[in-house]
Amino acid sequence: MFKPKRVIFEKGALNYPLGQSLYKQFNKAHHEVIMLSSNRVKSAIPGDDLPSQYENGKQTLVVGIKKSLKFQSCKPSAHYQLPLVSGCMGQCEYCYLNTQLGDKPFVKVHVNLDEILDAAKKYIYERLPEVTLFEGAATSDPVPVDPYTHALADCITFFAHEEHARFRFVTKYTDIDHLLSLNHKGHTQIRFSLNTDTVIHAYEHGTAMAAKRIEASQKLAMAGYPLGFIIAPVFLYPNWQEEYTQLLSSLSQKMPSHLNEPLFFEVISHRYTTKAKNRILQVFPETTLPMDNETRQFKYGQFGYGKYIYPKETLTDLKHFFTEKITTFFPHASILYII
Ligand code: SF4
Repeated sequence: MFKPKRVIFEKGALNYPLGQSLYKQFNKAHHEVIMLSSNRVKSAIPGDDLPSQYENGKQTLVVGIKKSLKFQSCKPSAHYQLPLVSGCMGQCEYCYLNTQLGDKPFVKVHVNLDEILDAAKKYIYERLPEVTLFEGAATSDPVPVDPYTHALADCITFFAHEEHARFRFVTKYTDIDHLLSLNHKGHTQIRFSLNTDTVIHAYEHGTAMAAKRIEASQKLAMAGYPLGFIIAPVFLYPNWQEEYTQLLSSLSQKMPSHLNEPLFFEVISHRYTTKAKNRILQVFPETTLPMDNETRQFKYGQFGYGKYIYPKETLTDLKHFFTEKITTFFPHASILYII
């Protein structure tokens, strides 16, 4: 659960019941609470250099209003992003948000959830009779702030009543107990991002360990939620095969034998762009992330910039390895892709 060092309320946030509720919660818990009369959030977050600005940004929760209710598209995994939260308390060195959220990457929650869900209703209506899929974690990990806002809980209940819509989100966190008793009707799909403890220790600072994520996924499986696992990013380090085998084995022991829907897996090998590498080296000057271009293959991307991926033969081995292991441990699961 996110324990912010400072909580900043944007102008107008207290005009909403959720804003009021958050104000009471954080005031009572003696957090540093800052009331802004403008929306100049960044000037209220300290920091002299990039690493300290990053650190302070990550420890800041901003409570604000989502003004634009025009949803971003979220291809190929969903039709639209559902803008509940932006930013994340985690400090994963490889996180794609490092290049997206500026020098002070604060976490922001939106208090006008009813307006956001009204906008979602319009998008659902426009695509009838097709089913519209909304992604709740496109620019965040929304789980560690949910014990405060209950926004995911409200969305799960909202989507349970929508026959022509589905909701999904992904997490590395475990604050899900308040979601277990909801009547979700199978309309919300939850994915856990998993990795070996070696990778979590080295690169996924401030996130839950693998056993805790597995435990949380077990609870959600028993509550009947459709579940998926993203094993990412996969790093090829000494012992990687033993450790990823161990991870999948532990997961298989915890999954109930009867599930409402088959599990699904996505596997993504580590990759980086030059822009991301430069940013990571500024924010984490001591990083040990493997980013030696000489050992990678350059792959041109569809958006005009390329990525450094593992060499082709290595990726072929990785695909064989994960296909075999997932099929062995989870004979009924589907593998969406291994890249
Ligand atoms: Fe980024 Fe996810 Fe790590 Fe948060 S948990 S820092 S969103 S990779």
